[in-house]
Amino acid sequence: MRKFFIAGNWKMNKTYDEAVQLAAAVQQRAVNEKKINIGVFVPAPYLRELAMASPDLIVGAQNLYWENAGAFTGEVSPPMLRSLGVSWTLIGHSERRALFGETDEEVNKKAIAALKHCISPIVCVGETLGEREKKTTLDIIGKQVKEAFYNIPADVAATVTLAYEPVWAIGTGKTATPEDAEEVHAYIRMILASLYSTEVSRTIRILYGGSVKPSNAASLLKMKNIDGALIGGASLNKDDFISICDTALTIEKGE
Ligand code: PGA
Repeated sequence: MRKFFIAGNWKMNKTYDEAVQLAAAVQQRAVNEKKINIGVFVPAPYLRELAMASPDLIVGAQNLYWENAGAFTGEVSPPMLRSLGVSWTLIGHSERRALFGETDEEVNKKAIAALKHCISPIVCVGETLGEREKKTTLDIIGKQVKEAFYNIPADVAATVTLAYEPVWAIGTGKTATPEDAEEVHAYIRMILASLYSTEVSRTIRILYGGSVKPSNAASLLKMKNIDGALIGGASLNKDDFISICDTALTIEKGE
């Protein structure tokens, strides 16, 4: 059975003191929590401190670069993250793709580099509003998933987490209906089964992201192929984020 993963993506928010306070509140909620994974993906300067102070949380990076070291001003490498005690990262968030020009090929290079250094990636995929309107959602998602997993062998692929985040739902207050989200999640699982095996496809967690909040979390998390949430705005408020974690605990699923 896949464990729910409730992950906060703080993006470029919070000063240092605010970040310490928010992480402490979430850590408090996560103490002795075995049934679900709770994570926060925080700005790079806070990683070390928050990872050390939050033993019951997954504290991850929001990005990394694929080279180990060298003349890449402003980038952070996998060995650097490992040396901070960090073993999780987001990769290919739609803001990275749209604002910083990240391509599917780069997402794949980042995923390979992360896995090589035993950093578990949450690889983000999602279609734009125009793509949804043109009814090309599944084609776009299929391409993004296949390219992200290119040259990644089955045993390590099973340690990857995916996040389906329709771009039009991020930070807009618009959420995919649970049925629309489930359709894409089920499709992603089918692609994974065709790339690897049914067993691997059943192991990989697929999170939903895009305006998840306390009021809509239950209906999304109840869907068969939705294994958690990647939460932006609502993760910046401790009560909202903790409420979504509590909601996940109330949901029992067969698979
Ligand atoms: P949102 O962001 O919850 O604010 O829509 C989700 C994300 O970008 O991961």
